[in-house]
Amino acid sequence: MSATSYDYDLFVIGGGSGGVRAARRAAALGKRVAIAEEYRFGGTCVIRGCVPKKLLVYASQFSEAWEDARGYGWQFGEKHFDWPQLIANKDNEIERLERIYHANVEKAGAKVLMSRAVLEGPHEIRLTATDKRVTAETIVLATGGRPNPHPGLPGAEHCITSEEAFHLKRLPQSIVILGGGYIAVEFANIFLGLGVETTLVYRGQEILQGFDDDVRHELHQAMAQKGMSVRCRDTLEKVVQKPDGRLEAHTACGDVLDADEVMLAIGRKANTENLGCETAGVELDKRGAVVVDEYSRTTADNIYAIGDVTHRMQLTPVAIHEAMCLVETLYRNNPTKPDYDTVPTAVFSQPEIGTVGLTEAAAAETYDELEVYKTMFRPMKNTLSGRDGKMMIKLIVDAASRRVVGTHILGPDAGELAQVLGIAVKAGVTKDQFDATMAVHPTASEEIVTMYEPSYRIRGGERIG
Ligand code: FAD
Repeated sequence: MSATSYDYDLFVIGGGSGGVRAARRAAALGKRVAIAEEYRFGGTCVIRGCVPKKLLVYASQFSEAWEDARGYGWQFGEKHFDWPQLIANKDNEIERLERIYHANVEKAGAKVLMSRAVLEGPHEIRLTATDKRVTAETIVLATGGRPNPHPGLPGAEHCITSEEAFHLKRLPQSIVILGGGYIAVEFANIFLGLGVETTLVYRGQEILQGFDDDVRHELHQAMAQKGMSVRCRDTLEKVVQKPDGRLEAHTACGDVLDADEVMLAIGRKANTENLGCETAGVELDKRGAVVVDEYSRTTADNIYAIGDVTHRMQLTPVAIHEAMCLVETLYRNNPTKPDYDTVPTAVFSQPEIGTVGLTEAAAAETYDELEVYKTMFRPMKNTLSGRDGKMMIKLIVDAASRRVVGTHILGPDAGELAQVLGIAVKAGVTKDQFDATMAVHPTASEEIVTMYEPSYRIRGGERIG
């Protein structure tokens, strides 16, 4: 079959971060592109992920801001929080963004199909809304993922996941959250900030596996100090609904936690069920994610996969980057592998985490000798407010090359700082260049360029003082 005898040059399944970017870029290059979305344009990030989450984070931060304001002379009347109003305002904003996503795809010249799409063969797709079949020379799977519903947990049907958390009719008075990843931690902080009695249950030694150990420990302490119950090395064995509708979460350690809601945040599953992958020769791994090579090509020659469905690095900017690389590879005669090195990232906990590069543990395995610069201090804003919260800044430096190979920040606006530090660390900036940079005074982040002596060194994996 010649390329022009297919209905489309490119068919994208999934209108989320990765799919939309691939469709827009390819259509802008004059390709005949169609994109199918079964639910709402914008995907997880816009509809039930990053964006609504950040709006709830902002909402939850006002309780502390309100208390802090008193130290600065402000007096307010009685405070009142209206959850339905927040959810309605959030929904309006999400609808606005969804319309923009939809319009941008059409403006780029791609055909938008509001339907579930499944593979019927290597070049054939069926649109389930109309049962129509279309063909394409190249297909991109960008179907993302969804929360793991934890079918093995007795009573899981009574629990919510992040998806329902965005649409609760009422703000619960108490919640138990199972999980220790960033989604669990962020929601725990959102609910705590909104005044909900919050318990986080996580089977691991410490929350936020994969992040720097100091950051994990300090955040845990900060959350506990604010009144959150953080129970590591424990898990839920069953959830029972009581006659009054409330829930009992039974933990492995033998405790029974009473709560209005139990939220499961124990990871995400790739959306590959009944997608027709086997019919088209697309192999899945043990966890159901699409197997791809370094250029995002699946085991079927003309089918590619990008974003969360591949379980590489589940972040919006990464899905977008994979889409851009794919369009370079496919349509600009420029084979481009996605670059996963030194990806800055944030956890919108309270306090926030901003991180880029290697953790101390990973750097100790990679480099013979490290210098670690670490400071913990009370940011100036917390003085008049009387707030206890500390900020931590940690730089990890390869002693031989002097390159800063990791930066980890816990404190206000750490996510914003990670974006800027990401440029420096990616560029391979040395500690001497950090030192040569003039401080911005008075800021909390000036400490990034004013730590002149290492706090300790690590040689051959051992701390040497
Ligand atoms: P998605 O955005 O999930 O899009 C997939 C789309 O495909 C969906 O719209 C789905 O409806 C559609 N679809 C699925 N199957 C089909 C089918 N067969 N036919 C048609 N359409 C189909 N990332 C960050 O970088 N920063 C954050 O702060 C952040 N916060 C998050 C918070 C939460 C609660 C969650 C759940 C995720 C968060 N993420 C965050 C991760 C981020 O949302 C994802 O990495 C990103 O959305 C992945 O994009 P994607 O294109 O791979 O998939």
